[in-house]
Amino acid sequence: MVEVLPLQLYPNPILRQISSVVSKEELQKPEFSQLLLDMEKTMLENSGIGLAAPQVGRSIRVAIIKTEDGMLPLINPKILKRSWKKEVDEEGCLSIPKVYGDVRRSFKVKVSTITPRGEEVKFEATGLFARVIQHEIDHLNGVLFIDKAKKITGGKDILDEMKKNGETKTGV
Ligand code: ZN
Repeated sequence: MVEVLPLQLYPNPILRQISSVVSKEELQKPEFSQLLLDMEKTMLENSGIGLAAPQVGRSIRVAIIKTEDGMLPLINPKILKRSWKKEVDEEGCLSIPKVYGDVRRSFKVKVSTITPRGEEVKFEATGLFARVIQHEIDHLNGVLFIDKAKKITGGKDILDEMKKNGETKTGV
């Protein structure tokens, strides 16, 4: 059964951990494909366009991105190249609900990842697709968009309140 997983909300310390690399053995386990399905359902249920494993309490280098062709899983992803050209756009995060901010990101990135079958693939992404990839890979390194935001454009009071509340919280 595919489940909606509880979202880990800021300032939960799991969001600040460096996630660990997924091994080939781990990839082959049925639990792993289950996790991807659960993450997809969790992302869709929360109207997200990307979700990283730490956001559902798993500190592993896995994220999923919503694309026109369905869900794209990123496993042990790496950014190989970033364009000099940057763009500023507003971002939000399922782990920091109701908070928005302007973040400057590379317009284009070249990414390597492994597929759920364990094959390495490389591809290029631009615009919003590139932005979501950079946002999700940041999650795997314990970095949140509020760290990079030039300006908090919405929910500043909510963010200040969350910052005050340093204890671990789990949201549903
Ligand atoms: Zn996020």
